Amino acid sequence: MTRAEGLLSSVFGFDAFRPGQSEIVAAVAGGQNTLAIMPTGGGKSLCYQLPALLREGVTVVISPLIALMRDQVRALREAGVAAGALTSGNTEEETEAVFAALDEGRLKLLYMAPERLASGGTLTLLRRIGTSLIAVDEAHCVSQWGHDFRPDYLRIGELRRTLNVPLAAFTATADEETRAEIVTRLFDGAEPATFLRGFDRPNIHLAFEVKDQPRRQILAFAAARRGQSGIVYTATRAKTETLSQALREEGHAACHYHGGMDPDDRREVEARFQREDGLIVVATVAFGMGIDKPDIRWVAHADLPKSIEAYYQEIGRAGRDGAPAETLTLYGPDDIRLRRAQVDEGLAPADRKAADHARLNALLGLAEATSCRRQRLLGYFGEEAGPCGACDLCDTAPEVFDGTDAVRKALSAILRTGESFGAGHLIDILTGTATDKVRQRRHDDLPTFGVGRDLPKPQWQAVFRQMMGHDLIRPDPERHGAFRMTDDARPILRGEAQITLRRDTIRKAAGKPVVKT
Ligand code: ADP
Ligand code: ZN
Repeated sequence: MTRAEGLLSSVFGFDAFRPGQSEIVAAVAGGQNTLAIMPTGGGKSLCYQLPALLREGVTVVISPLIALMRDQVRALREAGVAAGALTSGNTEEETEAVFAALDEGRLKLLYMAPERLASGGTLTLLRRIGTSLIAVDEAHCVSQWGHDFRPDYLRIGELRRTLNVPLAAFTATADEETRAEIVTRLFDGAEPATFLRGFDRPNIHLAFEVKDQPRRQILAFAAARRGQSGIVYTATRAKTETLSQALREEGHAACHYHGGMDPDDRREVEARFQREDGLIVVATVAFGMGIDKPDIRWVAHADLPKSIEAYYQEIGRAGRDGAPAETLTLYGPDDIRLRRAQVDEGLAPADRKAADHARLNALLGLAEATSCRRQRLLGYFGEEAGPCGACDLCDTAPEVFDGTDAVRKALSAILRTGESFGAGHLIDILTGTATDKVRQRRHDDLPTFGVGRDLPKPQWQAVFRQMMGHDLIRPDPERHGAFRMTDDARPILRGEAQITLRRDTIRKAAGKPVVKT
């Protein structure tokens, strides 16, 4: 793990870089002049906050958005980073505290509104405190022809010249004229390292499958790609060993890799993978950080990744050479439970947990999508796109149905039983199955008993899984995974919103034909 990756998780609490971030962080931290164009919400702030921690001295962040600066300073402080802001919104004490911290050399990030640059003392101050990097947010504000023109932004170029430190400019405005103007005014016309890459990796085919016999599903995927280099990611160390054994028994060249292995053994696997053609590495997420193999032809997830960022990063290891590459991600109710529990049981503060749940939701939404996955994935990172033609849902449109009625029945079963049961018991109630447990608790007397006879049990399993995926219900880790309804489900329960669900293809026991229910 690099220092940047270490800080990414220890300070910011993220498990993976978003598209583009790691390259930009490397350039900025390495002292290059940089211009990064990223969509709004794409994660620009990390691209200067993380380099600020990697570099000596103070990073000065210039931004026109006072509320945003204050938010960022608060969040950084909560994460233990010494940050402060000099803005017109400060109280006198706040300003005093910032100056004191600067004088004692305690500050890593100093946020500043551009208006400050007009005052004569600012330059002296920035020189005295050892400014080593200037980061400019909303860099298009330097454009005199744009709507957001800020005259004080024109002083930034002079600031850079005088301090003679690298400058990193960020904007979401991609048009060429604005970019040219930024280069002229902020960098005196010397081309900075520029990052304007779409995040799409069109050669990578995307696919998800519901787990039913996960080992067979992975073996089948690998069998169809015999002789090609691939990675299988698993959620546990133990599984890397059993699955690589299973692959070898099928005649593949396969080995395992995880963080608990001896460093020599790990290096050996890395070297073999780099050198050999057609090796499969079954690994935990510990594998891949430093892997730079251009011709990885496929990546499979035997278990659901942690977040949509982790998913993107892991599948992104395939097809770096631009030739077609394929991916498959398996998931099921147990994965959802595991990932939810990992967030709930972690030590993070409440707002970070809420953000982690939201990122997990984004991945689950991708898993349960009913139309183009890439469109949804890119949309999450702020990029608009049409249907891609290179994902499983573009290949074959899934069969969908109006799931509103089924979801309302399921929610009603959950509420009428006091949010105390898991899917098995609830499905017994819905399908009118009078098991001992149902009778003992008199759940056969409920009005919901038997209202779901129109759907077979496996389809009800799929309904519950999709309800989890859409975050309508969450398993309660303190009550043996009993389902609780979330606020997102209320509009559906009240009949104010509808929901479309996928009709799953459900395979029965091994060897039996595939049946649609
Ligand atoms: P913008 O590009 O619009 O300035 P921000 O820097 O505010 O975007 O980031 C948008 C959101 O993405 C924030 O909620 C931030 O916490 C989140 N984010 C940024 N980087 C990552 C990452 N690597 N993994 C997960 N979430 C991230
Ligand atoms: Zn598609």
